[in-house]
Amino acid sequence: MYSLKLAKRMQDVKESPTLAITAKAKAMKANGWDVIDFGAGEPDFDTPDNIKEAAIKAIKAGFTKYTAVGGIDELKDAIIEKFKKDNNLAYTREEILVSCGGKQSFFNLSLAFFEKGDEVIIPAPYWVSYPVMVAIPGAKPVILPAREDNGFKITPDEFSDAITASTKAIVINSPSNPTGAAYTPEELKAIADIAVKKGVFIISDEIYEKLCYDNHPFVSIASFSEEIKKQTIVLNGVSKTYSMTGWRIGYAAGPKELIKAMTNIQSQSTSNPTSISQKAAAEAIKGPQDAVEKMVVEFDKRRKVIVSGLNTIKGVRCMLPPGSFYVFPNISKFLKKRFNGKAINTSGDLAEFLLEEAEVAVVPGEAFGGEGHLRLAYATSMENIKEGLKRIEEAVKKLE
Ligand SMILES: *Cc1c(COP(=O)(O)O)cnc(C)c1O
Repeated sequence: MYSLKLAKRMQDVKESPTLAITAKAKAMKANGWDVIDFGAGEPDFDTPDNIKEAAIKAIKAGFTKYTAVGGIDELKDAIIEKFKKDNNLAYTREEILVSCGGKQSFFNLSLAFFEKGDEVIIPAPYWVSYPVMVAIPGAKPVILPAREDNGFKITPDEFSDAITASTKAIVINSPSNPTGAAYTPEELKAIADIAVKKGVFIISDEIYEKLCYDNHPFVSIASFSEEIKKQTIVLNGVSKTYSMTGWRIGYAAGPKELIKAMTNIQSQSTSNPTSISQKAAAEAIKGPQDAVEKMVVEFDKRRKVIVSGLNTIKGVRCMLPPGSFYVFPNISKFLKKRFNGKAINTSGDLAEFLLEEAEVAVVPGEAFGGEGHLRLAYATSMENIKEGLKRIEEAVKKLE
């Protein structure tokens, strides 16, 4: 009798837990539950009209065929201009790869750059996909906990101490998903100096670049010197900045040889990202930016309301994060409590309790290597945020 045997590597490849909780919340909604969703990892705003129009124009003009694998020149040039203007970084077309989302950029990088024997330092709490994507080609994710009392950021010394002879790279995600933490230029410079001194490559995930508050100065770590630029790959994309998560366009910028290898991986897997989405992304990057500014103003208002609301709930502690659209409250006071005789031992148990008892969807911190916390995305209306906070407050009172 035939017995299906999956590859061993699948033991490390699980469904993304953020997508799993969103799926459960959606299913509950479909069954008539009134769920407030803090789980989603995407802006709740519509894609701006000028971007949609560019896509419609592309379709009507018949721009619907294969393109160059690594992206059309028009989009690459828009990205090059963006790097020059926003980040003071000069790249050529050969140093840019456009992919089907920032996620695919990282995946291409992983396959092209890592192998068995390599260690990749991943500060925790981390984006759920990093450790899995590093492990797929056989490299070892080395999780480096960032302390909450340091704003969920690693210090230069902690980075330095984590480096071994096998360390190939470190992942820096500032502003961060899931914590909203963001490094200052001085902190990034100190990390860059160590990376140069010790020959550690930097993967800088800058997808939340535009989502900074309180005048937090965003600086790309690649921009400190020619030396650091040579050993950094910058990952970015249009998903979060322009509410374009479904369009699937991300990009990478870095050393020519590495970009070439990543492009070869892409040429043997997905080929080019969608032609129509590339035209839309070019408009997003080159066109008017007022929709982004409006979105940031709205996110900022919600950020303040959700953080102060969380901090008024007895047992919750939440820092006011300078970036992204997530907060990462400490809920460890509720662990080891019980509801109706059932133990709440983990953040996963608490998230399940909140979904069932309060009809509020949140993601457990354990999914991000941050047990004792929950991740809430404030990518939902102010009204929902206020109602959701009220429900959480009522629900946790029932824990004993
Ligand atoms: C959303 C996200 C990405 C990329 O998303 P894509 O939709 O694939 O472009 C990358 N890194 C982090 C940390 C994210 O939250």
